[in-house]
Formats: sequence, C-alpha cells, structure tokens
Amino acid sequence: MDKKVQDILSKMTLEDKISLCNGADFWHSKAMAQYGIPAVTMSDGPHGVRCQKNGSDMLGVNESEPATCFPTAVTSGAAWDAELLKAEGKAIGEEGLSYGVDVVLGPGVNIKRNPLCGRNFEYFSEDPFIAGAMGAAWVQGAQESGAGTSLKHFAANNQEYKRFNGNSQVDERTLRELYLPAFETVVKTAHPETVMCSYPRINNVHASDNTWLLTEVLRRDWGFDGMVVTDWGALCSRVAAMHAGCDLSMPGGSTYMEDRVAEAVRSGALAETDVDACAARVIALALKGENRPKGRAFDKDAHNALAQKIAENGAVLLKNEDGILPLETKDIVLIGEMAHTMRYQGAGSSHINPTKLTSLCDALPDVPFTAGCDAKGEVTEETLREAADAAKQAKIAVVCAGLPDIYESEGFDRENMTMPEGHIRLIEAVAAANPHTVVVLFCGSAVEMPWLDKVKAVLYMGLPGQAGGTAAANLLTGAVNPGGKLTETWPMTYADVPSRDTFGKKTTHYKEGLYVGYRYYDKAGVAVRFPFGFGMSYTQFAYSDLQVEGRTVTATITNTGSVPGAEVVQLYVAPPQNGPYRPAKELKGFAKVSLQPGESRTVTFELNDRSFAVWCDGGWKVPMGSYEILVGASSADIRLRATMAVDGVSLSAPEWQQGSWYETLQSLPTDAEFEALYGGPLQSDPEPKKGAFTMEHSTMELKDLSPVMMQMFKGTEATIAKSFGGKADYSDPTFKMMVMSGADAPLRAAVLSSCGAFPANLAEGMLAMANGHPVQGMKKLVKK
Ligand code: BGC
Repeated sequence: MDKKVQDILSKMTLEDKISLCNGADFWHSKAMAQYGIPAVTMSDGPHGVRCQKNGSDMLGVNESEPATCFPTAVTSGAAWDAELLKAEGKAIGEEGLSYGVDVVLGPGVNIKRNPLCGRNFEYFSEDPFIAGAMGAAWVQGAQESGAGTSLKHFAANNQEYKRFNGNSQVDERTLRELYLPAFETVVKTAHPETVMCSYPRINNVHASDNTWLLTEVLRRDWGFDGMVVTDWGALCSRVAAMHAGCDLSMPGGSTYMEDRVAEAVRSGALAETDVDACAARVIALALKGENRPKGRAFDKDAHNALAQKIAENGAVLLKNEDGILPLETKDIVLIGEMAHTMRYQGAGSSHINPTKLTSLCDALPDVPFTAGCDAKGEVTEETLREAADAAKQAKIAVVCAGLPDIYESEGFDRENMTMPEGHIRLIEAVAAANPHTVVVLFCGSAVEMPWLDKVKAVLYMGLPGQAGGTAAANLLTGAVNPGGKLTETWPMTYADVPSRDTFGKKTTHYKEGLYVGYRYYDKAGVAVRFPFGFGMSYTQFAYSDLQVEGRTVTATITNTGSVPGAEVVQLYVAPPQNGPYRPAKELKGFAKVSLQPGESRTVTFELNDRSFAVWCDGGWKVPMGSYEILVGASSADIRLRATMAVDGVSLSAPEWQQGSWYETLQSLPTDAEFEALYGGPLQSDPEPKKGAFTMEHSTMELKDLSPVMMQMFKGTEATIAKSFGGKADYSDPTFKMMVMSGADAPLRAAVLSSCGAFPANLAEGMLAMANGHPVQGMKKLVKK
C-alpha cells in the first residue's frame, strides 16, 4: 500500500472508513477534508460524457452538459480499429476532465449473448477477443488523457430483464472462456483505474458480494489493483461486499447497511482489514484526482470530426447488388423519418446531450425528402402512397429505417427481433415502386429482414452518434469506402438463436454454454442472414501467402479493386474436436489494413497458449493436437488455411458430454444436459409469498400480491411521471426505463439508488405491512 494512503488510513476511525466506502451523492464519493481525502467525480459513459451538473439522476431523464456523442459500441466496435477506439477514449477522457470528472464510467464489454438484450448497442460484440481489444484501446486512450475509467458491467449481465435481482447461472468454463476474457484483456493490458461490478447474481451470489469474482478472479488471477465500484444500486450486502473486495457503493447518500458493517467488525464477523482494504482503494483513487488536468476546454470540432470518422469506419455494407452503391447519380430521394430524425444513440445512462447533430437530410440538403412514417415507425395508407410516389420520381430511393427508440434501451429488452411493421411496409412499398432501392439501417442490434431480397443494397449504420448523417452520406456517395464488419451474427430469425428458451427469465440458465453467436451457428450448420465478421467494400481484397512459423502467422492482403479501401483480416483457430467440447473455430487475431488499389501488405499475428487453451479442472490447459489456422474476410469466408501442431496435454471428453447436445447441437440442450455441464442442480427463485416478501423483491414483483405494494408501485409510477408532464407514457423509452429501474429494482436497490429520497425505514415498514405485520410496519415507519 502506498505510504500516503497508509498514513491517511491509520488516522481514520472505523466509522469514517466505512462511510468513505459509500458515495456522497449520485456522482461523487465523499470528500473527507479532515483526512485530506478529496471527492471522486464520476460520469457516464461509454460513448460520450453524461455530466450532470444540476438535477442529477441515474438514467438520463435530466439534461447533461453538452458532449460529443460518439457512435455507440455496436458501431465503433464494427470498425475493428484499436487506434480509432483509443482516440475516442482519449477524446471522451478530455471532455470528462473539462467538466471536472475524474472517472468516466465505461467501457462496457459484456458479451452479446442474445440479440434481444436491450443494451446490446452499448456492448462491442458476441466475441470476447474483439470486445477485449476494443475495450482495452478505449481505456488506454481515456487514461492517457488523465481521466480514470470504469470497466463495466463485471460480469454476466447479458440481459436487462430483472437485471437488479436476476441470477445468471453459468458454468465456470463458459465464464472463463466467453464471458470473462474481454474483462481480463482490458484489466491486464490497459489497467483501468476502476471496475464496475454488475447487478445480477452470478451463480446465486450478487456480483457485489462475490468473493470469487472480485477477489479470486479479478485481483488474484488477473492482478487488478484498482478500485471496484458497484453499478448504481447494485450493492447487495455491505458486509459481504466489503469481504468480497467491493470498495465503493454508488450512488451514495444513504446510510443503509453502514451500521451493520460496524456491528460485524465489532462482533468479529468481518475483519477490519477487509474494511481497510476497501477504504485504501477509495483513498488511492481519490488522491489521483489531485493530478488530473481538469477544466481545460475541449476541441468540439475535432471531436465531432472524430465521431464522424468512427461512424464511417464502423458502418457495415451488408448488401450491394449490381454495385448500386456508391451512388453515381444525384437523382435520389430520401425516404423515412429516420433520415430526418436520426436514431443515433440509445436510451439510458449512456444518453448524451450532443454538441452538434447531423442527420442524413442535413448532410444532403439538396436531396428531396419524404417522411413516409412517423418517429415511432408508424405508417398510414397515405404516407405509404406519398413514399411510393416520391420513390418513382427518382432514379434511386434511399430508405432510412431500423428501430425507433422505444424498441431498444437500457432497462428493458426487446420483445422480438422484428423491425416496426410500419418500417417493413415502407421499405416494401418503396421497393415495389422503385427497383433501385437502398436501405440505410439505424439500430443497435440485429433485426430480421424479411424484405432483404426486395432491395438492392443495405448500409448498416448501427447507432452512429452525432455525426452519423454525414458519415452515411459520405459512405453512400463513395467519398468514403465502407470497411466495417459485423461483430455479431445476424440470425435469419429469432427462432434460430440458441439462447431463445432461457433468455429473459429471472434466473437465466446459460444452457448453451460456449455456443453463443458464430460459435453456435457455425458448428450447428444453421444458416444465418449475415455471419460474424461480415462486411462489404467498394473494392475487393485478395488473400495470399499464409505462413506459419512457430506461433507467428503471416498473410498477404492485396487491394485488387480500383478504389482505396480497408479490410479487416480475421484469424480463427479451429481446434481439434476430440476432447472437451469446443466451437468449430474461434477468433484469435485480427488486423485492419488500409490499401490503395493494387497495394499489398503482409499482416502478422502472434498466437500464444491462450489461443489454444480451454479452462479445465480449475486452470488453463492447452489440448495437444493439430489445429487449423484460418485467415479470412469473415467467419464464413475463410480464404487461407494451414495446420499447426500444438504441444500440450491430452484431455478426454467428460463422460456426460458424449452424445449430448454439446456435441450434436440438435434442437436445444435439455435441463439435464445443462446440469451435467454446470456440475450441479438448476437454480430458480421461489415465487414470492405473503409473509416471505423480502428486500430482494421489487414492488413490481409484489404489486399484484399486496395492496400495500400496489400503492407503492403506483406512487413510484406517479413520481416518475412528474418528470414527464404527469403522464405515465410507456411508449416513451425513458419513462419505461425509469419505471423498470425504479419499480422493478429490489427494495434494497431502490433505497440505495434513491439517494435518501426512499429511506430504508420506509421500505422496511411497507414490507412488514405487506407481509401482514402492520404494527411492526408502523414502528419502522416512524423510526428515524
Ligand atoms: C448503469 C451503468 C451506469 C450507472 C450510472 C446504471 O444503471 O447500469 O452502466 O454507469 O447506472 O448511471
């Protein structure tokens, strides 16, 4: 421990040490002037700074200071460009510092397990290798600026439904090989100053209280020496969390649970050294603030240009029949409200108040525009007719469509994988009127595309940030050549997704194990709409000369077309299939190369033990055998192959695995098969019953079982509605998210997140009443 930190700690009372580990308000840790400890200021988030000076709130209903809204991770990740991500992190760090922020709360490197997760737009990929690389670059850039970062949400938070009190049941091998490595890469290579623990339970134990996760994996195995902060309201038990190494509980402003820590120390149930360790890490972070270059203005124009560049690099050309793009004519029409009111970011804690905003209509002011639908994607016969008429007037019709705000957000998941019916009808009406129809898609995750055959081209912008319109215009016209590639598989339909039967339950059994995304589709032979790693260009690339020497792999890429372009070269390792079950191939390297027409470049990949290893019997083991090295343009477009003999250990398949779903991939795994993989019984929560309601239940869960809780639910809804003109409007994503995050948070989390507005005695009193103990309830209510 640093000497200065030790000196401060040695002067502190037990009560102050405990208190320091609980934030002061929404965005600050406590300053303790008597010990020389400054406050730490935190702000969201991953694609821009959401610094709230006035009217702080957790989920972005109140306006924040203007900041550059960079593309969300779905788009920035698809650029596969560490330098760009580093530049983005640096710019966000600078903006945060300019507003006095010490720690920006990002990046998010959770794995996209299922396309319906409402927050997929904030995450990079279904694959930990690319997610880790992008996250690490972002952290390096941000911390280079002098700001701290918070790697989130650690871990196994892969859906929004019941995110506060759900239970992710995952076998350790799947955690180690799929859900944790992106965090591991960022921690080991970029050293984020803080890590944010997630909300849910992981195998029954909340992330905040999880000694295995926070101490054994994060600190012991990976060597993390920074501070762990809870996600906002994620603290389950302050005593258990102190022991687990969960240092700072945010947001602060509630003394809920602090007394119990002091009692636990006095009774010997908790060692004071556990409290010291947490407090020391908070102090160490706070002291760093003294040297941060705060308060300098940032260059808005340069950051806007960077946001544009990232959007241009992260957009993915999904289809381009007859080379209709780039547009060779000016005789085009823009159709679809999204051309005008662009969907460029998602709702929730990552919501940015942009410094500037350019839609496709703004970027192409001379092009005629017809809305064809409203902002919610709804159409009428008349708007469809107008759109079709407009489409007939031009050589090429460009339709902007995707997912309106209410379809995807923090706080709730998508209900299905479809686009609004209105958008589908709009695309079909335009395509029927004009055979030269191009679709520009704005959405944060994969959608079903029943209309795909009817259009000539599709450009996927993801959620491209504030300069998304300029980026889209430059890509459509060919001023910039698309070079982004998908970092998630686009399945044909939701019915093909291997986690379709377990996603969105309170206890989520991660039954599909490692078979997430291409790891599943590839081996199961299930046809997909667009494979992982896919993306087209206005030029072509040839792959040649694959060389393998030891663990170094080289290949040559040539631009064989007539315009400059960038290619994302991907290296997959295909392991032998004779031991513990394994995907057919896994991404273990990539390189992005920009090439002039006719230019060639040799790219080099360095593989290591982890490129081949499996997690087995508590450690990494390299199964010996002949591995195939595959280099290609996507997971489904392998251009070069070589074999590599790898030395290692001989691992045989466990008995339960033989002939099971994990080998056949027929239909879905059974519960019994998952139990065998997991090595224990399936868990689930009992239905709440009167008399046994606890602080772990939410008012939403209890409202139909208890009139008291119904009152509380209605009260919460009405309080939130006040910020929305008094109207409980569930078609407003921010309102819906606030209700889900307030009323569907367990009472314990609602107390913590309310920063004192919903005190513990009120929650406990109402709970006692709901449980049928009115006197006990009243006593708690009147207690100060
Ligand atoms: C989100 C975090 C965010 C925090 C603070 C939470 O609800 O899950 O990602 O950083 O709020 O806004």
